[in-house]
This record gives sequence, structure tokens and C-alpha cells, in this order.
Amino acid sequence: MEDTKMEKEVVSKNFIEQIIDKDIEEGKCETVCTRFPPEPNGYLHVGHAKSILLNYGLAQKYHGKFNMRFDDTNPTKEKEEFVESIKADIKWLGADWEDRLFFASDYFDQMYEAAVKLIKKGKAYVCDLSPEEIREYRGTLTEPGKESPYRGRSVEENLELFRNMKDGKYQDGEKVLRAKIDMASPNINMRDPIIYRVAHMTHHRTGDKWCIYPMYDFAHPIEDAIEGITHSICTLEFEDHRPLYDWVVRELEYPHPPKQIEFAKLYLTNVVTGKRYIKRLVEEGIVDGWDDPRLVSIAALKRRGFTPESIKNFVELCGVSKSNSSVDYAMLEYCIREDLKLKKPRMMAVLDPIKLIIDNYPEGQVEDLDVENNLENEELGKRTVPFCRELYIDREDFMENPPKKYFRLFPGNEVRLMHAYFVKCESFVKDENGNVTEIHCTYDPETKCGSGFTGRKVKGTIHWVAAPTAVEAEVRLYENIIDEEKGVYNEDGSLNLNPNSLTVRKCYVEPALKEAKAYDSFQFVRQGYFCVDARDSRPDALVFNRIVSLKSSFKLPKQD
Ligand code: ATP
Ligand code: MG
Repeated sequence: MEDTKMEKEVVSKNFIEQIIDKDIEEGKCETVCTRFPPEPNGYLHVGHAKSILLNYGLAQKYHGKFNMRFDDTNPTKEKEEFVESIKADIKWLGADWEDRLFFASDYFDQMYEAAVKLIKKGKAYVCDLSPEEIREYRGTLTEPGKESPYRGRSVEENLELFRNMKDGKYQDGEKVLRAKIDMASPNINMRDPIIYRVAHMTHHRTGDKWCIYPMYDFAHPIEDAIEGITHSICTLEFEDHRPLYDWVVRELEYPHPPKQIEFAKLYLTNVVTGKRYIKRLVEEGIVDGWDDPRLVSIAALKRRGFTPESIKNFVELCGVSKSNSSVDYAMLEYCIREDLKLKKPRMMAVLDPIKLIIDNYPEGQVEDLDVENNLENEELGKRTVPFCRELYIDREDFMENPPKKYFRLFPGNEVRLMHAYFVKCESFVKDENGNVTEIHCTYDPETKCGSGFTGRKVKGTIHWVAAPTAVEAEVRLYENIIDEEKGVYNEDGSLNLNPNSLTVRKCYVEPALKEAKAYDSFQFVRQGYFCVDARDSRPDALVFNRIVSLKSSFKLPKQD
């Protein structure tokens, strides 16, 4: 039973791998060359991570090549800043493009020549219709389009006008170059699409050399063909553009035309992934930048404490499919818990401190307890945890009037202090507002953890931090910024935000955490996994982001 299951797993391939296998078998290609082609107009998010790891993973699996290519053909929205952040994010994810870094803008000359070639073949023409007229002439899903009156221009006239376009003789929008395909095509993308437009703009790499820029649907297949991409993997919204992609590579007569394959985008429930939303959250100051740990940009995931391994596992679990669906954020949380479980020390931190005083413990005495860092992984070694008369415990671990089945501290009850002794609650102190400020206990010296004590048992174990040596720190607890069930927008168009998406707390942590550095992460027992915030943490004022709590409602789907 187990054996066949294993075999099945080994041979099961996603639909893209099946296409590649067939292409190799039929001799259409020897191996694969894939690419990741972001537009440098924003930061990458977890959806892009899927695309990156998919493309990079295929290149590795087939011993092929992986190109990193900036699709920088639209100078309006692009910035150098994004080029650098995108490169850093992809490196961090572990996708290595080696020396295969390309910019679509490096092909502008070749794209211009490609357009000239189409004109010479009678497959492209310069059109003077205004943008509104072009829209009008395009028709609708149910009605065919109307041919432009400029469609019949001669090759010579088109060549001259296109040259004039390049030479800056026209204003933006005055003329465009269109592919001559079929105004009656049921596919609107094939109704003489625009392939070049006039735009007097400075490009972040080519400066003012060009005042005409190619449109995405024309540029992208050319970029792929020039680089020898075998399988151009993109998301489903480009499915209707595939006939145009194929038309471009066919008419330009590339000897090894690339093949476009579409897969479904990754969406996460209750999480905003679209660049537009993230931009809005940043610009409206709702979050503190593109790497705010509540976002799912790659920079944010890194800052929050996610690891490349966890993201890789996550996208693998999501699989590759042809139909759009949304994946539960809990699955991403599951992946980071699994990754950190055995790798990180389990420390004690008190997030909502209240004093606990052990009245019969000698004043001034400090015991250094020898504690395993991770009981499931001995290799992480041991650390020293000081124990003394005055401790902090979490407020929720004490109740004056507990309900049934509450096994933590309450008057008269005995619990274990983790790694230390049994203590029994004798009394407590309240302030004038009725808030508990101190809990008084006695301890039993016989019950030291690891002493071999086999007497009575207690049902509750609570964590603590010794007060005199406790390190004060800040913790940031997160929830989703948006609750989809309640709607992403309010009636007035503003974003419907979760007011509890960020909770900041002053807390106490063990002295062993004093040396923690940016991106170091730990389990805080019973509280979750935490990571030192790379932006705001200082050696004398530590800040921890909660990556994820320990509780999970997520179960790995059964594989059949
Ligand atoms: P967004 O819609 O979030 O702004 P985009 O598609 O405009 O993203 P690009 O820079 O054009 O961003 O995308 C680069 C590559 O990443 C493209 O191949 C695109 O299909 C892919 N990609 C973008 N979003 C996702 C996603 N959610 N899941 C998988 N792949 C994605
Ligand atoms: Mg895009």
C-alpha cells in the first residue's frame, strides 16, 4: 500500500511538466529555458514567488536554464528602485539566475526591426485613429470590429510614417502601429492590436533614445524568442492573448518559437496580493511601507520571519493548476511552523506580565537552570535560565475565579513553573481598580524539574521569566489586515480594515535573548514563533514580530 503510494508520488507530474516531457520527446526542444519576467513597477509578493519558484524549479529539474528578465517596456510606472528590490527578493528565495540577467529594454532595436519586418510583409500599418475611435472600431464580444480607414496604406507609406514616429514627429497618441490581423476575429485581441505607440517619456535605462514604445503583447513574445525561451509560463489572464503571441512569433519567423503556457494565479484568502492594493495601503499610510509584516510582499514575509524554505514548501503544496482558486493563509502558517519546529530554540517570554513572588524562596538567591533549547532536537544544545524569588508570568495564566478545567494558577492550586519547581498560589494583591498586581506563591524544593521527583502530579505548566534579569522588549502581534467575508471595501470606497491587525505589547523575555539579531527567530513557548524585526529592533530595545501562533486549525489535505 505504502509502496504504491510512494511510486505514484514520484511519477506524478504537473500539467506543465507533462507538456515539457512531450515537447522533448517529440524533439521540439532538447531541454527547457524558462524565465521570470517582472515589470519593475512594485515589490514582488507571494504570488510572484510561486511563479519564480515554478520557473526556476523547472529549469533545475530539466537541467535547463533560468533567465531573470525585467520587462521594462513601459516607462510610466517603472523605477530603478524596484529593479534592485526585485533582485534581492529573488536571490533571497534562492532562485539563481547566474549570469542570465536581461532587460527587455536592451531589445528595443530588435523590436523596432521586428516591427519594420511586419510592415514589409504587409502585416502592420500606421493608424491615425484617436484612442477613442480605435476603441469604437474594435467592436464588442458580440459584434465584429470595423476596419480602420488607414488599414490600406502602402508598405512604403507605412515605413515612412513609422520612421517618423520613431523620429519624434508626432505627439503622444497621434499615431500608432497596428498589426494587420482580423477585425472580425471572435478574439478581440486579434482585431488589429496596437503594437507600438508614441510616448515622449524618459526610460529608466534607455533615457531619451526612444519616443515610441512596444506594447506588451508584441514585446513579450519577441523577448522570449530572442532569449531562446522554450516555455513561456504566465498566468491565466493571458490565455486569450496566446493566439496573438503565436501570431507574433510565427510572422517574425523565429526558427524555434517559444510556447506560452498559462497556469492559475496564487490567491490567498483574506490577504491582499495585488500590487494596486498594497500600493494603496502604503500610500494611505495604513501600513509602514512595502515590507510591513502584515503584507505578503516577499520583503514583508522576510521581515516577519518567514523563511525561503517555508515559502518553497508552501508553493509546492499549492500545486500548479489551470483553474483559479484561493488558498487558505493557514496553509502558509502551517509551512512556517513545520520549518521552524526543529530548527529554533524554545524560549520563555511573557507578553502580558504580572508579578509572581515565591514567599518561601530565599531572597537574593539565583539558581541557574540548565535548559534544553529544543526537546525534539538535542543538537540545538542547552542554555542557562536564571530562577529566583520574583518572576513574571502571563496575566492569563492566573484567574481569581477559574471555570472548570482551568488548570493554571488560582488560589489554592499548584502548577509547575516550566523547567523549575511546583508552586502553589497562596494569595494575591489587587489595586484600587480591582486589577491583580501580584500573585504570592510557595514552592516545594523537592519538585525541581529533572530531579527525579515522582510524588504528586500537577495538571498545569506555565512559563515565566525571572524579574531581576528579565529583558524588556516589544512584541508585535498580527492579524490579517482585511477580512474578505466582511468585504474588502466599505460603501464609500475606503478599505474595510481589521482594527486589530497590529497589537503592540511591552513584554519580558529571558536574558538569553539579549543578543538576538535581525531576522533571528525563536519559539516563545505557548505564544508562537517570533522574529527580531530587522527595521526597528535595537540591541537595547528589542522588537519581535510574531510570525505565527502555535495553534493551528489547518490540516494538510489527505493525498489519495
Ligand atoms: P500584480 O497583478 O500582483 O500586480 P503582475 O502580474 O502585474 O502582478 P508582473 O510583474 O507583471 O506582475 O508579474 C511577473 C510574473 O509574475 C508574471 O509572469 C505573472 O504572471 C506572475 N504573477 C503575478 N501575480 C501572480 C500570482 N498571484 N500567482 C502566480 N504568478 C503571478
Ligand atoms: Mg503586470
